[in-house]
Amino acid sequence: MGCGPYTLGRTPDLEVPEIPGRVLIVTDVQEGFTRKGNLASPECTAAIPRIRRIVEEEMAGGTPVIFTKDSHVENDAEFRMFPPHCIVGTEEHHLVEEFRDLEPKAVAVIEKHRYSAFFETELEQLLKELRPDEVHICGFCTDICVLHTTSDLRNRDYDVVVRSEGCETFDAPGHDHEEVNRWALSHIEDILGARVV
Ligand SMILES: [Zn+2]
Repeated sequence: MGCGPYTLGRTPDLEVPEIPGRVLIVTDVQEGFTRKGNLASPECTAAIPRIRRIVEEEMAGGTPVIFTKDSHVENDAEFRMFPPHCIVGTEEHHLVEEFRDLEPKAVAVIEKHRYSAFFETELEQLLKELRPDEVHICGFCTDICVLHTTSDLRNRDYDVVVRSEGCETFDAPGHDHEEVNRWALSHIEDILGARVV
């Protein structure tokens, strides 16, 4: 089951339809990007109910849902660019409180330590097993982990649908969340060839 803190937590005995049609990836909806720590963001916190609606609807329709968690060790190389966040074993690493009841219903919770949920994880293998017709994605942050995971999905020729209602990024100096969201979604659509709905 993986190595170090970067493991794939498959939910045991969860029934997955043989050909699921679509799969939903929910990126990094964690305390460390909403209410706690150096990268806490009121913009991302405000998006939680919108994301929850998407997840509930998809789960009700039988869509396999994969959660990702940004998962760092102390002194992680990413902390040369961003202040420390989402260290495994801290509160920040947990999915947001509002998602705790949804977490056990996911087909997998993937712990990732780079922007893309493919890097040194078992996502590639999991998608090969699930064989979705299309992959839907939402979560945080639109311009970072959603974008890079979408890019890696497109490099593997998956049809990708980005659920813009459920995507958000943070506000910071030089990083206006509305402007950055707009830029990221248009890049995802025009350059990466995903469908943005
Ligand atoms: Zn990170």
